[in-house]
Formats: sequence, C-alpha cells, structure tokens
Amino acid sequence: MRITHLECHLVTVPGPNPPFVWRDGLPGSWPDGEGAVLRICTDEGHEGVAFSPRKGMIVRDIVDRLLRPELIGADPLQREWLWHRAWELDRVEEMPIYVLGLVDIALWDLAAKAVGLPVWQLLGGYRTSIPAQASTVTFGSVEEFLDVADQCIALGYTSIKLHAWGDWRRDAKLCVALREHVGDDFPLAYDGSAGFDLPDAIRLGQVLSDADYLWYEEPMREFSVTAYQWLAAKVGVPLLVGETSDGAHMNTADFIASGAATGGVRTSAELRGGFTGAMRIAHLADAFRLRAEVHGPIIPHQHLCMAIPNNTYYESLITSNPVRREPCVDENGLVHAPTAPGVGLPPDLDYPAALSRHV
Ligand SMILES: [Mg+2]
Repeated sequence: MRITHLECHLVTVPGPNPPFVWRDGLPGSWPDGEGAVLRICTDEGHEGVAFSPRKGMIVRDIVDRLLRPELIGADPLQREWLWHRAWELDRVEEMPIYVLGLVDIALWDLAAKAVGLPVWQLLGGYRTSIPAQASTVTFGSVEEFLDVADQCIALGYTSIKLHAWGDWRRDAKLCVALREHVGDDFPLAYDGSAGFDLPDAIRLGQVLSDADYLWYEEPMREFSVTAYQWLAAKVGVPLLVGETSDGAHMNTADFIASGAATGGVRTSAELRGGFTGAMRIAHLADAFRLRAEVHGPIIPHQHLCMAIPNNTYYESLITSNPVRREPCVDENGLVHAPTAPGVGLPPDLDYPAALSRHV
C-alpha cells in the first residue's frame, strides 16, 4: 500500500460559548478560529484523517512544504519509520508538536479503518470504560469553585482537578476549602499551568501535601528537570510532569530518571507525538511502575484511555457555570470506548463533503 495524496482541509472551529478564563497571565478560551483536518489517501482506497482544532494555516503550510513531499509514495503502515522521519524533519523545521503528531494520528486512523477496528483496540485494548476527571477552568471565587464542584459531583464525576488563579496563597486557600467541602475521601488534583517559580511551587505543594491531593501538575514551566527534582524533594504530594515540554518520550525519560515524576507523567497524542509517542511514554512509565495520565479532552485521548493500563482518568474540561457535562461522559461519570473504526472526527463542525464519512 502506498500513500498517493495528502490534503489539508481548513475547518471553522467555533470558540467556546460562554468563553472562559485560565490563570492570571494566560489568555482565556480562543474566539472562533480555523482548525485543520489532515487527510491521507492511498492507492488501495484507504484513508486516514486527523484533526487539529487550531492553527489551521500553520498545519497547511507544513503539509504543503514538508510533509507531502516526504509522505507521497511511502507505505502508510510503516508508522514507526514515518514517526522517525517526522523527528528528522523536526531537526531543521522545529515543527509544532501538534503537527508532528498529526501524521501519526492519521496513520493509526487509516490502519484501524483498514482492519475495521477502533484505534484503541489496534493499540491493544485494556478497558472499555474509564472515570472522567472534572478538570475545571478558572472560576471567579472560592465560593464559585465550590458550587461548580457540587454540580460536577451531582453530574456523576468522581474526581475533580482545579486550574486556579496562579497566586499561591489564593490557590492554597481554594485547595484547602475544596478538601474541607468534599471530605477526605474524594480524589482531588491541582494543575498550576506553569504559573509559579520554585519557591512558590514549594509553598503551594506543601499545602497540597497536607490536604492529601492526588497529584500536583505542572506548577512550573517544564524546561528545568532539576527544578522539578528539587521540588520533588521538598513536597509530599505526587508530581505529575511532562505535559508540554519538547522532546516527547526523550524528555519524559529524563523527568523519570531524575526522580521528579513522583506521581507520574503526562501522555498525549496531541503534545507527545501522536499515538506512537503517547504509547511509548505509557510503556516507559509503566516499566517504572509510574502512571501515564492522558492529557486533555480530545477524541484520540478516549482511545488512549482505553489502551493505557497505567492511566486512571479521562480529563474532561468543565468550562462553564452552570456546569455542562461533556457528551462523552455518562451519568456515572464514565467515558466508554469508541466503537466506530478508526479515531473519528469531532461532531458538529462544518466539514467539507470529503470528510463527512470520517465524522
Ligand atoms: Mg495540565
């Protein structure tokens, strides 16, 4: 089988309604934007697609300039070889990681459709459902967060992760108030979205340790493994690391080797080099008896959640108050394994006719 053409379709992606905010200093939700769908076709009539929700023009530029010349004529089932080639091209291009992984996602989609299976089964099925963790955006006050938490629990969620303001004292008060509000046994986690330096990350981490948080995620930018190593030595709360740093599995390996990944590592098709990169990280972490928690609520991650044994939650973003439960989460707070062959494109977007059968 050979790849005969690559297409990049631009798709309008509506911004969240209502819009939401992240911690102080970061932009909030995006307004309406332009995403991209990469479509790979073969001489035997098989197709694979992958969706990038934003930055469609960047994706199209890299497809036209770099990926099409590389992929035309290649065997789409040689995913490892083509993944290696993507890293080679990255050496000169410094591709955004979401583009590097996009080809790999489309190739897994193609292979899974060719054999009539959802991707998670081709990856190696482990489970058929998983609890969703309610992962909040940043709300206005402690009182509003507690109200949102009550709504999440009433909607079936069995764990909550906070993205708060990025002020360690204010965030610490919120984390303690939420622990008191939900009781000792409810699993809570905190995500700093890289809002702190090391001294403040230590101060907040000590509060999270005392409040028995399940994990402490990305309190600092993930450039210095040493800073995380020093943080891990100072706080008892398990650290979840390696979400956004460059280098995918290679960078994750250093976090693990340093002893900083005391809770585990993040893995992702979007930010760690497609399904191939995400599974490498999962297996790497598993060898050290660490968790590889799947990052972010996109459809490929539903597949990863079903295939990775050392993952405990699907990250389900809570973007509004009143809280709306994500459609893929049921009343018991569970996400179930996708059943259609391939990955599946997100519904409700205005796709060109050529893509409608992949939705
Ligand atoms: Mg995160």
